[in-house]
Amino acid sequence: MQTPVPTAGQHAIPSYLQADHLGPWGIYLQQVERVTPYLGHLARWVETLKRPKRILIVDVPIEMDDGRIAHFEGYRVQHNLSRGPGKGGVRFHQDVTLSEVMALSAWMSVKNAAVNVPYGGAKGGIRVDPKTLSRGELERLTRRYTSEIGLLIGPTKDIPAPDVNTNGQIMSWMMDTYSMNVGATATGVVTGKPIDLGGSLGRVEATGRGVFTVGVEAAKLTGLPVQGARVAVQGFGNVGGTAGKLFADAGAKIVAVQDHTGSIHNASGLDVAALLSHVAERGGVGGFAGAEVMDSDDFWGVDCDILIPAALEGQITKDNAGRIKAKMVIEGANGPTTPEADDILNDKGVLVLPDVIANAGGVTVSYFEWVQDFSSFFWTEDEINARLVRIMQEAFAGVWQVAHEHKVSLRTATFIVACQRILHAREMRGLYP
Ligand code: GLU
Repeated sequence: MQTPVPTAGQHAIPSYLQADHLGPWGIYLQQVERVTPYLGHLARWVETLKRPKRILIVDVPIEMDDGRIAHFEGYRVQHNLSRGPGKGGVRFHQDVTLSEVMALSAWMSVKNAAVNVPYGGAKGGIRVDPKTLSRGELERLTRRYTSEIGLLIGPTKDIPAPDVNTNGQIMSWMMDTYSMNVGATATGVVTGKPIDLGGSLGRVEATGRGVFTVGVEAAKLTGLPVQGARVAVQGFGNVGGTAGKLFADAGAKIVAVQDHTGSIHNASGLDVAALLSHVAERGGVGGFAGAEVMDSDDFWGVDCDILIPAALEGQITKDNAGRIKAKMVIEGANGPTTPEADDILNDKGVLVLPDVIANAGGVTVSYFEWVQDFSSFFWTEDEINARLVRIMQEAFAGVWQVAHEHKVSLRTATFIVACQRILHAREMRGLYP
């Protein structure tokens, strides 16, 4: 008799049982090692940062449209709650692992502290390719997952938000499921909701706007004119698409774009508005008429001034970092640069604006959404954007100063600022009991 081959997400060996020492969590631990010498007396508490406070692994069974019962692995990790409730997105992706969710939750702790929003760090995920599910299956998966992590989440406990492959519709199902379980409409349990359900104006564009804001600040400080700058973007969704549009509106030229559907370039600058409509219609940049197709690996060596990785982690590696011609890399994605690549870029004099500050615009407007939900008083888009820009500019200026004071990279400087805030809170609170 033939043994049926297990498929991912159903009966395969759970990823958390597989050794993953060099995965994203390992990278995060290296980053903590680098910051430890700068923590002074707070280094006494550094072990706190090396262990997530809580890890919840859940089995998410759902009935598929054809009557089969499928099981998916879900996670919610609360890395640190010293400064406030857990905060961070939920991603649906076939490659999600515990190591990845742990690292992403830790980067949320750092990011939230770096921009000084009153949250700890958390992250969640389901190991699933949502493109293979029907809408009904996706809804059942989301609801069952929300119910399973209901032990941890809540408006004052841990507040999920969108991340890779999750959006306002998924947040609506999460909000509804949690609300049904507690018997009251609890809008503040998730952020990134549609406007009619207590969402915030400007939230969808917030991460891209933050990427643009820190990019402009760094360009001013290094004397790189944004007007006429050549920009290459990887990922043209929420983050890369918005950042690309804002750079183009400021007079930059978007010369190359890569996503999961293809890599395109146009040395005289792509028509960003047309490309955004093409992506909205076709789901990716592939097949766009106003550009030439390029080999996906050649994307990294494209002639440009600014490179914005805004897709997944682990994209800039020791194999392609040496070919990067950009003067500045702005990390729209979480963890797009491996530590070896980070060193190569640093040695080449490429300025890397790290994820933990560059993409913090999303969670900053999530914070505004949560505050608006609590007060049931909603702000105008201009107010939101102005507050976002102010927070990003101030946070970036602080990190820049620390980088120059200690002669360290902007990543290490952001970790210094953030880890000091987290560990100071930890110290002040003290150990219980
Ligand atoms: N998923 C986004 C991030 O990685 C946003 C998280 C949030 O808004 O809570 O920063």
